[in-house]
Amino acid sequence: MTPEARRPYIAGNWKMHKTAAEARSFVERLAGMVSADSVDVGLCVPFTALAASVEAARDTPISIAAQNMHQEPAGAYTGEVSAPMLVELGVRGVVLGHSERRRYNGETDRALQEKVPAALLNGLEPILCVGESEEEREAEETQRRLRHQVQEAIENVPDDQLPAVVIAYEPIWAIGSGRVATPGEAQEAIAFIRALVGDRSRAAAAAVRVLYGGSVSADNAVELLAQPDIDGALVGGASLDPENLAGIVTAAG
Ligand code: PEP
Repeated sequence: MTPEARRPYIAGNWKMHKTAAEARSFVERLAGMVSADSVDVGLCVPFTALAASVEAARDTPISIAAQNMHQEPAGAYTGEVSAPMLVELGVRGVVLGHSERRRYNGETDRALQEKVPAALLNGLEPILCVGESEEEREAEETQRRLRHQVQEAIENVPDDQLPAVVIAYEPIWAIGSGRVATPGEAQEAIAFIRALVGDRSRAAAAAVRVLYGGSVSADNAVELLAQPDIDGALVGGASLDPENLAGIVTAAG
């Protein structure tokens, strides 16, 4: 599959922002600014805003994703939410392994090894986040970190389902810092991630979408998205404003 054949994907990650009412009015505004012609547009919203967002996004090009889920379908896991619960709401995808969850909530590669296939089993599109810290980059350990994270997380995904996984390369030092990776740095890391998928299946490597995330804005998106292996963006801060997010979608089109 050529880069042109992989459909660009722009996903906003709201983190812990927006109430259900705010989410509804955001989705209504964004829907008037984007078209589904050539770009997939997603919003990863807090659990409490999922139902309102799904309802507001109905018959629009926008799909709604959650920001985490538990690997088990049900059980004694207080405070957790499962894949079937998300699917029942009409949620289409789920962010897994975001660096903030790894850092603040003890998310592990071992748990992700169960979460990624559990999402796929339930028909949810996993957006698997991987990325190195500043110290790891300086110590030239970026590839070692990415290899570990990617191989572990996709270990239990059958080869023919690998193309359904979206991978987001998010260097931790670029998240929320305003310090965006250069297009060359992002391309190099994302080509490496694609090659890791290729170690499992060449066909999957050609088809899997790999996004860049870390201080993406409407200003820097064009150059990043022009790189051959970068298939879209996971956008944090700039996704909180519909005009900004629509600008990035336009850059991807
Ligand atoms: C993110 O939260 O996934 C992210 C990339 O944030 P930001 O765009 O604000 O750096």
